[in-house]
Amino acid sequence: MPENLTDILKQRIALHGPISVADYMAEALGHPTFGYYRRKDPLGVSGDFTTAPEISQMFGELVGLWCGVCWRLLGGADKIHLVELGPGRGTLMADALRAAKGVPGFMEAIDLHLVETSPALRAKQKQSLLTSGLTPSWHDDISSLPMDAPLLIIANEFFDALPIRQYVRTDQGWCERGIIWDEKTSAFGFTLSKAPTFPLSEMPQAKNGAIFELCPAATHMARALGKRLARQQGAALVFDYGHGTSAPGDTLQALRDHKFFDVLKDPGSADITAHVDLDSLSKAFVEGGATAFPLLTQGDFLIRLGIRERAQQLAKNNPEKGHDLTLGLNRLIDEEQMGSLFKVLSAACAVQPPGFDQI
Ligand code: SAH
Repeated sequence: MPENLTDILKQRIALHGPISVADYMAEALGHPTFGYYRRKDPLGVSGDFTTAPEISQMFGELVGLWCGVCWRLLGGADKIHLVELGPGRGTLMADALRAAKGVPGFMEAIDLHLVETSPALRAKQKQSLLTSGLTPSWHDDISSLPMDAPLLIIANEFFDALPIRQYVRTDQGWCERGIIWDEKTSAFGFTLSKAPTFPLSEMPQAKNGAIFELCPAATHMARALGKRLARQQGAALVFDYGHGTSAPGDTLQALRDHKFFDVLKDPGSADITAHVDLDSLSKAFVEGGATAFPLLTQGDFLIRLGIRERAQQLAKNNPEKGHDLTLGLNRLIDEEQMGSLFKVLSAACAVQPPGFDQI
């Protein structure tokens, strides 16, 4: 029995040839025994990275109020499915539900759904939501989400964990990047498909050596969610770091213990992510039938929702926390920190999502 993911992938490559970057990323994150998310709780100071809801309670609270306003604008239905994709430790949802209690009738209408593959994180989520008064249902993927009521869908740093494919520009065209095992160096290395394999009809213009990324898993899911929104009504709110139209090249990265780590080293031991192509994601929501609104930066979105005022109010009630609140606020909205690298996408049907410009 192989005892680690390196041996498993080595064996697979020896038998079947190079694996795609997407397969490598999917195994490194999601292998049932050795995948990064299956093994441990990766979040927070003692983990490998920190996310917006782990930085400040204000993030989840504002998301909760946003959901409450959407519910009201949708007509305050008796039942609404509140869905979070990849809820991590459940911190965002716990903060959101605390704030949602301020919207009369909203909590009673919520049917809570968490889409999560990691058993370790499901256990944390259960713990975090014990005092919320709601009992979540867990799903392995979005296909089992119910269809009988409107949807509110939240995702923070979820799409960046979905596997990407990479293509490299050569004289012949765009060839797919694959991963091999190099016996000489005893390490994984990159290789290229022998013939061009770029799957889109429109080839991006670029110089030799340029890298282009696609995330079919993300666009597929956004299209399916767009279809759900069109059929069931509701809104989606997606936070992630990434780019607009211009392709930024190679964005595959690994983080371990809050530091960059070699993507090809010891798969399963570090978080691997890629920048999210939020424009493609928007288009996929629209292809599904929803309306996508112009992207906002995380800073702009949170400021529009009143994060500065919320910070002042919290600091007034808890003067001893004033310094931490300011630090958290700055990390979330400052341009040099998360404020502009992180973008916010909303897609909706039958509702104009708060904070977003009308189209
Ligand atoms: N949203 C959280 C956690 C982000 S980490 C936060 O902001 O703190 C990514 C989350 O997505 C984890 O909960 C991870 O287990 C989950 N995840 C990753 N790939 C997934 C997949 N394919 N399906 C469902 N959940 C997934």
